[in-house]
Formats: sequence, structure tokens, C-alpha cells
Amino acid sequence: MTQHVDVVVVGGGQAGLAAGYHLRRQGLDFTILDADPAPGGSWQHMWDSLHLFSPADHSSLPGRLMPTQPGEVYPDAGHVVEYLADYEKRYDLPVQHGTCVDAVRRDGGRLLVEADSGRWRARAVVSATGTWSRPFLPAVPGRDDFTGRQLHTVSYRRPADFAGQYVVVVGGGNSGAQIAADLALYGDVTVTWVTQRPPRFLPDDVDGRVLFDVATARRRALEEGRSDTGGVASLGDIVAVPPVRAARDAGLLRVRPMFSRLTATGIQWPDDSRSDADAIIWCTGFRPALSHLAPLGLRGSRGHVATAGTQAVGEPRLHLLGYGDWTGLASATLVGVGRTAREAVRQVTGLLR
Ligand code: FAD
Repeated sequence: MTQHVDVVVVGGGQAGLAAGYHLRRQGLDFTILDADPAPGGSWQHMWDSLHLFSPADHSSLPGRLMPTQPGEVYPDAGHVVEYLADYEKRYDLPVQHGTCVDAVRRDGGRLLVEADSGRWRARAVVSATGTWSRPFLPAVPGRDDFTGRQLHTVSYRRPADFAGQYVVVVGGGNSGAQIAADLALYGDVTVTWVTQRPPRFLPDDVDGRVLFDVATARRRALEEGRSDTGGVASLGDIVAVPPVRAARDAGLLRVRPMFSRLTATGIQWPDDSRSDADAIIWCTGFRPALSHLAPLGLRGSRGHVATAGTQAVGEPRLHLLGYGDWTGLASATLVGVGRTAREAVRQVTGLLR
């Protein structure tokens, strides 16, 4: 049976919930379809020691301040999951968990959303599927030769899983730094952290609050025709969260430039010397999870859908929310997505009315 609604939101993480909040306020008839069986989006899959890089009151969705977590300035991922679950309930958002959308296609004057458990005809679709389900692994020579364990950030849980092992962590971003620090501080793991260029730590007093302010100032400058302030990237890549700072200051973060290939038993460096490894952890980022949009034929050469703000250029009934700055300033953060969601819903409402 096909159901009829004004709007289908695909994805019920923070971006989908922020969209739901604004759709509810506009009085639209909508449903949120979410592949995960439980609330919390990707936060429910993060590693055990992960904490936010902003305090709770700077990590809130529209309408409801995130409560502080007792004993923690920077809440952990479990606290975010509780907050999102409560948010879903508090605003009575119609999220259907455990529903994976396979395809969105044009169907006369409507968009047809096909999921594993049903079909919806909608006048507009907001896609908010995040990036967690599309881990990116670079093409590195010998990757298939390595006989040890290879995993991506998405599968890392805790250092005890690597006790007594030699582990190579690849990637110079926040995930790489935090996982390398997590392993190094554990004490019973030998870690080598490999980065393409020397790690660029942000100043120790810079956290998510400062990053958001810097990004906002840059956007304002550009909008007002002033010169580019350089934004967040000009400051560095890695937020020096407390465990990263601790591992760095204790000299536990052994950093080496990128290796040239994997071997059966480890890695080979550019000078042809070799190191054995039990595991390689690829902290090499993500790509937007957009395969459900393939029938619409909107993807450009770099895999992105061209957007004006959040609206797909080739399909005005489709909005993309939360994948990165290309769908709105800081729209892949808790504090940033609300503003972008409000604007997306304003446009959807205009289109439907
Ligand atoms: P997700 O949380 O990934 O939610 C997407 C939802 O869509 C999921 O529930 C998934 O099941 C569902 N879905 C996917 N595909 C389908 C489909 N085909 N059909 C139906 N449902 C589907 N941000 C901050 O603000 N502060 C931080 O401190 C911070 N730290 C971070 C640390 C790490 C390691 C990472 C990776 C990110 C961090 N972020 C942080 C960034 C950001 O907040 C998260 O990436 C956030 O989870 C993005 O939310 P989202 O709703 O866009 O996507």
C-alpha cells in the first residue's frame, strides 16, 4: 500500500529531527523514515570514549537546550543519544525506525519514496541520511595483501580490543587523533599514527564553540562582500580535546608520514623499510550517503548533488540537509543544523503552499 504525505524526511538523526521540528511548527503532514532501529543517528555507533568537542549548551537542536551531563563539560556520545531520543518524544516526531529507504523517484507530480517496508508518495522530500553509513577508504597499494585486521573509524570501539597489538592509525583529522590518543593512553597497545601532512592541532583553548563562531564570522564577511577571514581551516585541523592533549603532551603520539604500501604483515615506508602491524585503522573520512537518490539522476562528477542552499538544483522538491557545509554552514553539527533546517522547511512550505 502506498501512503500519501506532504513531506518525507529520509534519516532520523539530528538533521532529520531538526527538519521534523520545523515541519511540525509549520503544521505539515510528514513522516521521518530512519534505517536505525533506535533513536540517536550515528551517535549510537561511536566509540566508547568519544566526547563532544563543545559543551552541552552549545550542542543543541532548535527548541530544546541539551542538558548538561553531570561531571562532564563535554558530554559523551551516550548523552547525545539520550538527548535525541528525548527530543524525538518531546516533539512527538513521527519517526519510523528500522525503515531503510532504497529509492526516491519521480512519480507524476509527486516523489515516490520506496523503503524496505512500504512506499510513500510525497510532495517534497528532505534527505538527511548523513555520512556514517558510507565510510571512505583510500586506494592504497597492497591493501588486499595485508593479512591482519583492517577497520574503519565506524568499527572502532575501544582500545582493549587491541591489547598487546601493534596498531597503525591512518588519518590526520579529528577521528585519527582521537583514536590514536585512545589507544596510546591505554598503555598496552603500540600505536603509530600516520598522517599525510604533519598534524595541525588547533590552539588548546579552541573548542567547537570557537569553531562555530569563526565559521559564522567568515560567512558574514563573505555575504557582506568583505575579504575572506580564512575560516576554521586556517586555524588547524584537530581539536585538542582533553585526551588528545594528554597523549600529545606525554609524547605518546608517535606520528609518521604516510607509508607507501601495505605488505602481507604490515606496512612499507617510502625508504623501503618495513614495520609489522596487527591492525590498520583507517580514519579516512566519509562520503554522503546518497544512493537512495540515484533514480533522480542528480549526482555530479564528484558524487555531490548540486544544491542552492539545501535545495537540489535539478529537483526543487528535494532538499539535502546535514551532509557538510555544501548544504549549509555547519549543518553537519548539532548546533549548526537547526538554522539550515529552518530555512529548508521555509522553502518546502513555500513550494507546497
Ligand atoms: P546521522 O547522525 O548519521 O544520521 C543519519 C540517519 O539517517 C541515521 O539514523 C541513519 O540510520 C539514517 N539513514 C541513513 N541512510 C538511510 C536510508 N537510506 N534510509 C533511511 N534512513 C537512513 N558534531 C558536533 O556538533 N559536535 C561534535 O563534537 C561532533 N563530533 C563528531 C565526532 C565524530 C567522530 C564524527 C564522525 C562526527 C562528529 N560531529 C560532531 C559531526 C556531526 O554532528 C555528526 O556527523 C552527526 O551525526 C550528523 O548528523 P546527521 O543527522 O546528518 O547524520
